[in-house]
Amino acid sequence: MADRLKGTERNVWVEFGKLSAEYKAINLGQGFPDYHPPQHVCEKFSKVVIDPDTPLTHQYTRSYGQPHLVNTLAKLYSPILKRDINAMNEVMISVGAFGVLFSSIQGLVNPGDEVIIIEPYFDCYEPMVRVAGGTPVFIPLRPKKTEGVVTSNDWVLDKDELASKFNSKTKAIIFNNPNNPVGKVYKQDELEMVADLCKKYDVACIADEVYEWMIYENNKHIKIATLPGMWERTITIGSAGKTFSATGWKLGWGIGPENLIEALKVLHQNSIYTCPTPIQETVASGLDYELSVFGDNEKCYLQSLALELIPKRDMLAKVLTEVGITPTIPEGGYFMMCDISKLDVEIPDDGTDDPYDFKFVRWMTKNKKVSAIPPTAFYSAEHKKLGENYIRFCFFKMDETLEKAAKVFREWK
Ligand code: PMP
Ligand code: GLN
Repeated sequence: MADRLKGTERNVWVEFGKLSAEYKAINLGQGFPDYHPPQHVCEKFSKVVIDPDTPLTHQYTRSYGQPHLVNTLAKLYSPILKRDINAMNEVMISVGAFGVLFSSIQGLVNPGDEVIIIEPYFDCYEPMVRVAGGTPVFIPLRPKKTEGVVTSNDWVLDKDELASKFNSKTKAIIFNNPNNPVGKVYKQDELEMVADLCKKYDVACIADEVYEWMIYENNKHIKIATLPGMWERTITIGSAGKTFSATGWKLGWGIGPENLIEALKVLHQNSIYTCPTPIQETVASGLDYELSVFGDNEKCYLQSLALELIPKRDMLAKVLTEVGITPTIPEGGYFMMCDISKLDVEIPDDGTDDPYDFKFVRWMTKNKKVSAIPPTAFYSAEHKKLGENYIRFCFFKMDETLEKAAKVFREWK
């Protein structure tokens, strides 16, 4: 194994996915729905595959994204990003948001560059930066409230602490909004604080916005690329897997100024080259349909999804609260960070040096047959203590699945 991979061997999804399957647990761990994506995209998928008039849909397509897809994405995002997006030069398609993150980090970061990562973070950010030779610099969101009803808005960045992380070596910040795992949806003043520092230190912003459509109640998702002076330094990342609740489709996009997208294209053309054409065509047709019904909350999946998820979030939060677990109610996304410090359970030592949340989730999966994800996987080595008393649940599951989990929690004691 190459030296640059040393230290990145462990992977929380591999370990806890396997454990959940092994113990046939109710899987509230890795983020994916346990039911079908919207009917219209599934129908399009089968039509794309069997249509005798379009044999080339089964062959290679343009390296940086199938023309139909990049054109549709430009149409969808131009009004949202408040500019006329050039489909060919300002959009890049890769293998999931994962692929776009990888292309962005490999494409932009030189050895020795610093990259700011906000904790808790989607775990792959750290190894991706390290493998590129960069140095991750961490700043935690800190809960300013831990009693009573806690929401993701209670998790905040300290202004001075954030400013102290920027310097002349800072190349980029990875900015995940809504945040996984907390579910925070950043407000205008918080975005301005980040944007002002990016501009002051000439820093690129890798904006991971894969949960952009899952925004609850009166919260508003503001794209950081729309703030003054930010378009020219931001890559906005989206995911078909999240947009259409089909995580196995693994198709993602990056949108940004030509000079930044160029770096992603160069990396992509020599590594992945192109993504599966039938999936690109399906996602393009699916988004065409969504655009045609945009504004109709019944027909438009992008707009109805949040309404579908709110009762699931609330049901899980209620049950957990009843048994003494304090959930952070997310304003966006489909995860819930849950404080387990007041739970009165004895966890036997499992003989590992892992943080408490790892031991707790292992114990819960094996003994209670419900799985979750231990969030210290989303913290740097120096800050793991901050996440040790939490576990993360995914609530994008059938009501029936959530009911089964609820029964386990209610009978917990
Ligand atoms: N970013 C975040 C914050 C995520 O939660 C995920 C989930 N997998 C990804 C990126 C990767 O998305 P994809 O499945 O499209 O690669
Ligand atoms: N984004 C999903 C989650 O956070 C899936 C992670 C993954 O596949 N690595 O659960």
